[in-house]
Amino acid sequence: MFITRRVEFSASHICAQPQFSQAENRALYGAAANPNGHGHNYVLEVTLSGEPHPITGMVFDLKNLKRILNEAVVDPMDHRFLNREVRPFDRVVPTAENIAVEIWNRLVPYFKDGSGDGSDNGSARLSNVRLYETEDLYVDYTGPSQ
Ligand SMILES: [Zn+2]
Repeated sequence: MFITRRVEFSASHICAQPQFSQAENRALYGAAANPNGHGHNYVLEVTLSGEPHPITGMVFDLKNLKRILNEAVVDPMDHRFLNREVRPFDRVVPTAENIAVEIWNRLVPYFKDGSGDGSDNGSARLSNVRLYETEDLYVDYTGPSQ
């Protein structure tokens, strides 16, 4: 079974490779390379997979999931200039793809088979990170290829 929780955060970014010229970045990323940055209202959907607990009936405690999403993603990224305030985007271009990977990396320790405090979180696994940069554009990330 899959359960999904949605949260939103607002952040600004520049999509540009520092080692490229402004013209090269403009050709590659278009208006997103504007050195003064621009913002998005990101919508993040995090999907967990697992079996409902036989007693609680829950795959995962959704109150706990909300706390994790706030702690790992929303609090550190909301109303931030990603390139300047949020690692690793001082050196990794904060495209939707790279932000989704970073969110995955921040979340995975909380769940089964993660390396962090996931031991109390039952059988739930992190299954998918979907990040909408606009209504018309989203990326899905299901973790590193095996
Ligand atoms: Zn953008």
